[in-house]
Amino acid sequence: MIFAHDTEDALEWVAALVNTASGGEQLPDVATLDALLRGGGWTGRRDRSLAELHAVQALRPRFRKFWELKEAGIVTLINELLRDGRALPQLVKHDEWDYHVHATPSDAPLATRMAVEAAMAMVDVVRTKELARLRICELEGCTNVVVDLTKNRSKLYCDAGCGNRAAVAAYRARQKRAGDPSGTRRRESRARSRGRTAGRPTRS
Ligand SMILES: [Zn+2]
Ligand SMILES: [Zn+2]
Repeated sequence: MIFAHDTEDALEWVAALVNTASGGEQLPDVATLDALLRGGGWTGRRDRSLAELHAVQALRPRFRKFWELKEAGIVTLINELLRDGRALPQLVKHDEWDYHVHATPSDAPLATRMAVEAAMAMVDVVRTKELARLRICELEGCTNVVVDLTKNRSKLYCDAGCGNRAAVAAYRARQKRAGDPSGTRRRESRARSRGRTAGRPTRS
């Protein structure tokens, strides 16, 4: 584990939320928001209103800045989010979760709690000098954000299937090279004939 479990969970859902804004609106209604929150283990106040949905949607461009800004800009954003959300960190234990930090009361609006929770997670990332773990997906044309929580920093692609797409593309490229008679094979036969020519003088 790179960060505390609640930090890692938060970074994962922040990335998932940010990525709902790329390639068209992927958070179009309250039901989609419900599903996203279930995946992120969210509890506490829910209004299930359009105002709540829009407030959450509006967080995405701000959160995306965690992937775009340099350290000083990120720190300014974190402090702004904490101040605006009147963050007051408290260790709590609820449902099936062991001690973790809540910095807003559970009856605060969802978008406020999300903003503060994202900021709290980013506090850890900045303090541990691990901002390099926040990257953009390596697949050409994909603008999704990636949180690399692997030990060897090996996560290159987002969770929207780009890893598979990259593997398929690499496989096809290999197949094409192997099966293309004007490519590899011709080079091989030229190499062989050069070998024979070079061998002739010693035979005669
Ligand atoms: Zn909690
Ligand atoms: Zn991607």
